[in-house]
Amino acid sequence: TSWPYSSGISYEQLVEILRETPDREQAREWSRYYTSGPHLAGKNLSQALWTKERWEEFGVKSTIVDYDIYANYPLGHRLVLLEKSSEKEEGEEWTAKYEASLQEDVLDSDPTSGLDDSIPTFHGYSASGNVTAPYVFVNYGTYADFEELQNRNVSLSGNIALVKYGGVFRGLKVKRAQELGMLGVVMYSDPGDDGEVTEEKGLKAYPDGPARNPSSVQRGSCQFLSFAPGDPTTPGYPSKPGVPRQPVDHAIPSIPSLPISYADALPLLKALNGHGPKADSYPSSWHQGGLGYKGVDYNIGPSPPSLALNLVNEQEYITTPMWNVIGIINGTIPDEVIVLGNHRDAWIAGGAGDPNSGSAAFNEVIRSFGKALESGWKPLRTIVFASWDGEEYGLLGSTEWVEEFLPWLSASTVAYLNVDVGTKGPHFEAAAAPLLNKVLKETLQLIQSPNQTIPGQTIGDVWNKRIATMGSGSDFTAFQDFAGIPSLDIGFGGSDAHTPIYHYHSNYDSEAWMEEYGDPSFAYHEAIAKVWAVLAARLAETPVLQFSALEYAKGLGGYVESVKRKARDAGFAEEKTDDIFRELDTAVSHFHFSATVHDELAKKLLHDLYHNDIPWWKWWQKLQLYYAVRKVNTKYKLLERKFLYPEGLDGRPWFKHIVFAPGKWTGYAGATFPGMVEGIEDDDEVGVKKWVGIAEKALTGAADWLAEE
Ligand code: GLU
Ligand code: CA
Ligand code: ZN
Ligand code: ZN
Repeated sequence: TSWPYSSGISYEQLVEILRETPDREQAREWSRYYTSGPHLAGKNLSQALWTKERWEEFGVKSTIVDYDIYANYPLGHRLVLLEKSSEKEEGEEWTAKYEASLQEDVLDSDPTSGLDDSIPTFHGYSASGNVTAPYVFVNYGTYADFEELQNRNVSLSGNIALVKYGGVFRGLKVKRAQELGMLGVVMYSDPGDDGEVTEEKGLKAYPDGPARNPSSVQRGSCQFLSFAPGDPTTPGYPSKPGVPRQPVDHAIPSIPSLPISYADALPLLKALNGHGPKADSYPSSWHQGGLGYKGVDYNIGPSPPSLALNLVNEQEYITTPMWNVIGIINGTIPDEVIVLGNHRDAWIAGGAGDPNSGSAAFNEVIRSFGKALESGWKPLRTIVFASWDGEEYGLLGSTEWVEEFLPWLSASTVAYLNVDVGTKGPHFEAAAAPLLNKVLKETLQLIQSPNQTIPGQTIGDVWNKRIATMGSGSDFTAFQDFAGIPSLDIGFGGSDAHTPIYHYHSNYDSEAWMEEYGDPSFAYHEAIAKVWAVLAARLAETPVLQFSALEYAKGLGGYVESVKRKARDAGFAEEKTDDIFRELDTAVSHFHFSATVHDELAKKLLHDLYHNDIPWWKWWQKLQLYYAVRKVNTKYKLLERKFLYPEGLDGRPWFKHIVFAPGKWTGYAGATFPGMVEGIEDDDEVGVKKWVGIAEKALTGAADWLAEE
C-alpha cells in the first residue's frame, strides 16, 4: 500500500512492537546514567552527546541544536538571623542568633546527595543582593495572600518575605513581593503541605522512611513565567549568537531570593512567635502550617526591632550555550508532524523523577520506534523527538526552538506530546488540549496498569479520568500558547496517604530514592513509555487524524459558562452578563455545529478508506477520497491555530492563545479565556468586551473555515 497508509508493517504490528519493547530494566539503566552526575542547564553537553549517540544507535537520525542563553549560576549565599544585643551602651551591636546551613544533608545511603555540594542552593534567575531587614511571614505569597496583608496594614515595603512553597509558581511570589517594595524573599517547604506523610504523623523521614527529609531544599526558577518563558533577553525570537538582546527587568526578579529547608526555617518562624497576628486568624488558606508541633505559632510578624534578617545572594550571569537533541523519523507525508519532548537538565545531580524518569522512558520510546524501523516500518507522518535543555530555568530550550522554527512548526505540526516527570507516584495524571482528549483516552485503554485491583485493568480503567487544561510549568508552553499546537502533558504522580513524599528539586530526587521509594520495579517508567509511544503511533499512523473537534466545542462551551459565572460573582448584573456574552454563545453553538459535522465527515472517510472496494479502474473515485482525507486532516491540523491572536494577551504579548494561558498569578494552573477573566477581575468592562469580541470572531471564523468546502 501507499499513501494514506504507512508501509512495511501493519498498524497492529507496529502497536505490538511499541507495547512489547519498552523494558523496565532497560529504563533503570538509562535512569542510572542520567542521575549519576550533575546536569544543570548549560552544563550537560556530555549528556546531550550521549543521548544523541543512543538515539542514533536506535536508528533515529539526530542532531544537536544549540542556543546562547542568558542565565545565572550561583557563587555564594548566606542567611543570618541577627539579634541586637542590649548590653552595649554605645551604638548597637548585632550578633548572629542563627545562621542557616543552606545545605542538604549528605546521606551515606544516597551516593549522589553529596555530588552537587559545591553548588550553593539557589534560585534560577534570582538577583544578587545583600539585604538586612525585618521579615514578615506571608503564607504562600499568592496575590490574594499579599492583598490580605495589605488590607490588614501589615508592613511589607522595606521588609523581607518569609514564604511557604506551594499554591502558585515560585517566581510569581517574588514578583509580587518586589512590586510591593519588599527587599528579598526566603522560601521554604513546610511539611504541613505533605498531607499525612509527615514525621509529625509518626513516619520516618527519608532515607529511613517516606516523610520529607527536614534538610531538603526545593531549588527552582524565579523567572516571571506567566509573562513570557524562554531566554528573558530574546522574547519571541531565538537566542542565536549575535542577536539583539532586550532588557530583562520585566521578565526576572530584581530582588534577591533564597530557597531553604524547613530545618533552616524553623528558628526564623519561631522567632516570630508573639509578634503580629497569627496566621490562623486569616482566611482558611492561611491555616497553620505543619510545624506547630515543633513550637511554631505561625505569627505573621513583622519581626521585632531586636531582630533582623541578613540575606546574601551572589549570582553570576552569563550568556552560555544550551543544547537540545533533536531526532527525526521522516514520514511519507512531509507536512504532518508529531513532536515528542522531554527535558534533560536537572537542578541536581540526581533528578531521577524530574526529569529523568521522563528521559529514561523517552529512550525506551525511541528504542521501540527504532525496532519498528528495523522491521521495515515507514511511518505515515513525520515524528520528531526532542530532549530539551534549560527547562528548569524557564522552558529555555523548547521555547527558543519553537521560536526558531515557528513557520515550519506552524505549517506542519499536528500535536506536541510532553512528558516531564514520567513518574513520582502511582496515579496517572494528564493535561491536554481538548482536541487530543479522545486519542489520549483511547490510548490509555490499550496499556496495562502497573497497579491493578482486578487483573487485566488498563491505565484507563484505574485512572480518575480527569484531564486538566493546559497551564504552564513545562515545555509544552511554547507549543500550545505561542504556536497554537495542540499539546498534552502526561506522567504518573499524585499523592495520597500512602505515597512517599517526592523531594521535588532537592538532592533527594535521586536514583536511590527512586529505587527504594519512587518506582522500585521501574514498572511505571515502562508504563509511561508505552503510553507515550502508542499515543504517538495513533496520531502518526491513523490515515484520518484521531482528533475530536467536538471535545473542543464542549470545552469552549464550558469555559464560556465559567467566565459568565465569574462575571456574575464579580457583580456584573445578570442582564448585562447575558447581553455581553450573547454573541459569544451564538459563536459557540455555531462552532459546536461545524465541529460535529467535521468529526462525522472524518469518521465517514476513515470508514470509506478501510472498506474501500472502489475498483482500480475507478481510480478518480479513489483520488477523490484521498483528496477529501487530506483536506479533513489539514483542517484538524490547523484548527488550534485559529485561536491565536497575533497581538497577544494584554500586558503579556508573548502569549498568543486566546483560550489557554497560564494564570497570570498562578503560573502552573491554567486560565481559560484569560483576557475575559482578567477583565472581570480588574472590573474592566471595556476589556471584557474587547476579549468577548476577539473570541467571538475567532470562534465564528474557525466554525466557518471548518465548514468551508
Ligand atoms: N518546571 C520548572 C519549575 O516548575 C520550570 C518552570 C519555568 O520556569 O517555566 O520550576
Ligand atoms: Ca527567545
Ligand atoms: Zn521537569
Ligand atoms: Zn523541575
